[in-house]
Amino acid sequence: MKIDINQEKCLGCGFCKERVPSIFFLDGYAARLTELGENIDDGNEILIRQLKEAAEICPAQTLKVG
Ligand code: SF4
Repeated sequence: MKIDINQEKCLGCGFCKERVPSIFFLDGYAARLTELGENIDDGNEILIRQLKEAAEICPAQTLKVG
């Protein structure tokens, strides 16, 4: 499982961080991945579902999960 954040499109709203704080953090005006976010456990179904929800609520549609 890999997450891609398009830094140029990110609005820095923080919705992804609020939804999955273990995976995202805000660095200035853009979201970035935590260390855990760089190494997603494919077997963690709850986390995977949360990540997909974060991608859905991202107002800039800038998160790719897959
Ligand atoms: S929800 Fe989307 S636009 Fe908002 S901080 Fe996260 S990646 Fe950026």
